Amino acid sequence: MSVYVNRILNMKKIKAIGFDMDYTLVRYHTDKFEKLSFNTALEKLISIKGYPVRSEDLHFDPQMVIQGLVIDKKRGNLLKVSRFGKVKISYHGTTPIDFGQQQKVYRNRMVDLSHENYQSLDTCFSLSNGALFAQLVEQKKKGAELPDFEQIADDVREMIDLAHRDGSLKNAVRNNIEEYIIPDPNVARLLERLKRYGKRLLVITNSDYSYTELLMNYTVTPYLKEHSNWKELFEVIITLAKKPVFFLEKQDFLEIEPKSGMMKNVHAPITEGIHQGGNAQQLQKDLQLKGDDILYLGDHIYGDVVTLKKTLNWRTALVLEPLSQEIASIQSSKEILQEIDKLMLEKESLETKLNTLDIEKSSKNKNEVKSQMNEVFSTIENTNTQISKLLDDHKNYFNPYWGEVMRAGSEESRFADQVEKYACIYMSQVTDLLNYSPKTYFRPHKRILPHEIINN
Ligand code: 5GP
Ligand code: MG
Repeated sequence: MSVYVNRILNMKKIKAIGFDMDYTLVRYHTDKFEKLSFNTALEKLISIKGYPVRSEDLHFDPQMVIQGLVIDKKRGNLLKVSRFGKVKISYHGTTPIDFGQQQKVYRNRMVDLSHENYQSLDTCFSLSNGALFAQLVEQKKKGAELPDFEQIADDVREMIDLAHRDGSLKNAVRNNIEEYIIPDPNVARLLERLKRYGKRLLVITNSDYSYTELLMNYTVTPYLKEHSNWKELFEVIITLAKKPVFFLEKQDFLEIEPKSGMMKNVHAPITEGIHQGGNAQQLQKDLQLKGDDILYLGDHIYGDVVTLKKTLNWRTALVLEPLSQEIASIQSSKEILQEIDKLMLEKESLETKLNTLDIEKSSKNKNEVKSQMNEVFSTIENTNTQISKLLDDHKNYFNPYWGEVMRAGSEESRFADQVEKYACIYMSQVTDLLNYSPKTYFRPHKRILPHEIINN
């Protein structure tokens, strides 16, 4: 598939390429992993937090959440927000909130994500979080004695976090790696090609060293042609980086001895090897690079891309797993969309006609104009019915609860807006880069502003 361009990026000028690991270099069977995460966190809510629910009453629905949604913690709602911060679709638990009710609550509210009432679900790892929250809200509505919605949101977040930290999820992956991880020989091909072109490669991951070893040895090492081990590809490997803190603060680096996994403090410049923690500013300085010499690829719009773009001048690339499905759906629903656009234009011209007749009302035969207006009214209504039906058909191509990831009605979604502002390029999988030479000059399409659209 293609690489999509928001800002000019000349790959010839990029000297070093940094990679996030999970969901960037390494792909997961998302539905299976998120189901595991959902069930593990649910068990912890029952055993640690004493939630009075039965695990068999809650089920992970992989469609219930898409990347970019927002939890309204106070109200127990899931929201899809436009780029202007307006709520476009909402659910209370798993129950849709009708338009009237949604307007009542949110019409005069901009969703400000920096506010503590909101939690955004920005990565594939947060799908289980949103789905579990929604199901618990439903349980509370049915009478389960659960804390208030805000506390439920905080507890779910805490238990998901614990499941990632305490080894529950990582051990499950270790014990059954084929179930959760997708090995893709093209990743090794891409890395070896980039290295052949003289690019200096880095890994910067929030995963620990032993998990990184496990995943990279499973997905990269067996497919290498010019190297014998994944570690030979990378000049510096940073594990437990704690992104976005890695891009923001001056954490110290620890050096990891690859065989034993033992750690020691480092005082010398970071020029090679495997490390833990540390910070981007020092890494850049020690590698003697300028910010815009480095391209960093990650899947987390906030942790990997937004922070980096705001604080350092690195170039950024986002890997967005749902993109391939979204593009396939856009392709197959193309004709419906064209039909909707055509009907919208017809509707617009009917509305203009109606307004003209309205003006003529005072100077012409009132009754005649009125009957003409009624005729136009009923044609508009007819057109509206056709448009609604087509919009329903169009929805069937996308997520049944939320529609597209990158759109919120006719506007871009908040998520798409972040992608456009902060990711220089974006793609569905890191291996999409194989379709381009490492010398490519990526150029964006010219964006058309409303006043530049010329109607015939
Ligand atoms: P990266 O994408 O930076 O390579 O690494 C992601 C790592 O963060 C994975 O090891 C994943 O298990 C972990 N992770 C994802 N979500 C959470 C979370 O909510 N809490 C914690 N503690 N770790 C997480
Ligand atoms: Mg990642």
